[in-house]
Amino acid sequence: MAKREPFIPIWYHQRRPERSYRSLFKWGDPEAFKHPNRGLFELAREVFGMQNEDFLQPINLGLEAFDADAPVRLDERHIRWMQDVVGAENITTEAYERTRASYGGGMLDALRLRQQIVENLPDVVVAPRSPADVQAVVGYCHAQRIPLYVYGGRSSVTRGMEAVAGGVTLDMSKHMNRVIAFNEIDQTITVQPGMLGPQLEHLLNHAPEEFGAQRRYTCGHFPQSFEYSSVGGWVVTRGAGQNSTYYGKIEDLVLAQEYITPAGIIETKPYPRAATGPDIDQIMMGSEGCFGILTSVTLRVFRWMPENRRRFAYLFKGWDAALNACREIMQAEFGFPSVFRLSDPEETDVAMHMYSIHNTPADRLLRTLGYQPMQRCMLLGSVDGDRAFSRLVQRKLHAVCRQHSAFTLTPFKVTQRWEHSRFRDPYMREDLQDYGILTDTLECAVTWSQLKDVHARVRSFIKSRPRTICMTHLSHAYPQGANLYFIFIARIDSIQEYLKLQYGILQAVQEAGAAMSHHHGIGKQTAPWFSEQMGEPVMGLLRAVKSYLDPHGILNPGGTLGLDMTPKQRAKSWGIGPRQ
Ligand SMILES: Cc1cc2nc3c(=O)[nH]c(=O)nc-3n(C[C@H](O)[C@H](O)[C@H](O)COP(=O)(O)OP(=O)(O)OC[C@H]3O[C@@H](n4cnc5c(N)ncnc54)[C@H](O)[C@@H]3O)c2cc1C
Repeated sequence: MAKREPFIPIWYHQRRPERSYRSLFKWGDPEAFKHPNRGLFELAREVFGMQNEDFLQPINLGLEAFDADAPVRLDERHIRWMQDVVGAENITTEAYERTRASYGGGMLDALRLRQQIVENLPDVVVAPRSPADVQAVVGYCHAQRIPLYVYGGRSSVTRGMEAVAGGVTLDMSKHMNRVIAFNEIDQTITVQPGMLGPQLEHLLNHAPEEFGAQRRYTCGHFPQSFEYSSVGGWVVTRGAGQNSTYYGKIEDLVLAQEYITPAGIIETKPYPRAATGPDIDQIMMGSEGCFGILTSVTLRVFRWMPENRRRFAYLFKGWDAALNACREIMQAEFGFPSVFRLSDPEETDVAMHMYSIHNTPADRLLRTLGYQPMQRCMLLGSVDGDRAFSRLVQRKLHAVCRQHSAFTLTPFKVTQRWEHSRFRDPYMREDLQDYGILTDTLECAVTWSQLKDVHARVRSFIKSRPRTICMTHLSHAYPQGANLYFIFIARIDSIQEYLKLQYGILQAVQEAGAAMSHHHGIGKQTAPWFSEQMGEPVMGLLRAVKSYLDPHGILNPGGTLGLDMTPKQRAKSWGIGPRQ
């Protein structure tokens, strides 16, 4: 009898139509796809009780031509003024481009666009060619009291640049993406903020050819959004790359910045450290477009020695043993790994499905050895740096893992497989959502002593919703704690249901006492919880800085960082609804 071919869902695998709704919400490269593999598809079917037939007809692909009616409210004379400054080719009032400028990479943005909800657009998008253009526009908007927003890569997952008050949005990616200086003696590079990750990394990796340098360098900052996010966006949201355990978060890499504000230009110098009063760089980093427009950044760079990279992967019998091992690695003073990522039991099980290990002979052997499903935890990562250093860290780390009864997965090239798909995994989001399965993430920062409790509480909230996958990993580790990153997958296609879950998770994070964000920033999404967490004296201080730098409140108005929240926001209810 002929063997029946396994069922394969019909995943959308075409370049999305130009100027369609899908072109606005599809992540990344229009030509690139990563479809859920058989293991993940089967898991989804099992958890969500779906049948093969449910994967034959996508619910809503968003292929319709963008046709939103979005009137421009800004007076024509302001638009003419902008046009005179930057040139007609660097300004647009087209509804499609204005939507692109306001919607980011968050799930709420994707859900709204699938439902053709187009709201909160700037009236005009302006691409400055130079800091002088930025200065002119900032001065004009200040004098005329026109709201001013800004974007770099548009990958915000917190509604960071959503232009809720209309006005002008600056596009920093079109022109403001150049190198300003490279200094091999100090090992620094100064760039404009609209430069995207790959351009920066290419320049540094090719420093001998680009700058006549002696060596090759790396920026060491690789967020999952690396290919489509900008240096400016990283800095003002206090982002973290996947290799941050060794290289540091962006605030560890920034040495100097320039911001253009209504009150004047703030420029800091690239001293390695200084004792010159409170640190202005730290005050401005994380300002998310509310204190000024970032026009230049000086970053530390590192020698690029990919040939020295050492990879590792382990399986622990349980969460406790894995956490103890990770803490020991971070506190033992032998040096830090670069990528360092520990999956909790559910994420490990999902990985077993995705890597097609689930129910194989290898899986059965692991179970016999005591590495049981929904208990075992996978650690993977790599070590960068000098050859002797990376060898030493790998050797010491191995010893710690073995002391905690870990099974060595290093020979199975788990980390290499993870590296291969590290920037591709977000592409699965659209496929799943085409069939009404939503996947989203929330992250927070915790100390080691809080970690288990925060994990248990947030997870228990997410799992209280029936048929919901909740995967968590610890990444971006420190001697004192780590980032906890929650990924939830659920069958949801209504905005209200999504927001109910998302707000509930934010509330659970808040009640568990974690920092509301480790690297995504606050935006307009997390603002109410942020302001509650910080308390009135801190919010008062932030508002004082804001009112000095931006006395008319023109920069990113509408609740970002909780500085000027609407009553609806304060009540944690944005009243988002279908287009009327
Ligand atoms: C699939 C995916 C994966 C992600 N992975 C990570 C990750 O691993 N690590 C991480 O840290 N983040 C991650 N993010 C979140 C996002 O990529 C980061 O917040 C990133 O730093 C934003 O950069 P951007 O250039 O896209 O900024 P934008 O989205 O363009 O803007 C973000 C905020 O910065 C402000 N801004 C931008 N440029 C300027 C400027 N020149 N001056 C003043 N304000 C400015 C905007 O107004 C807005 O408030 C991810 C997002 C997605 C969609």
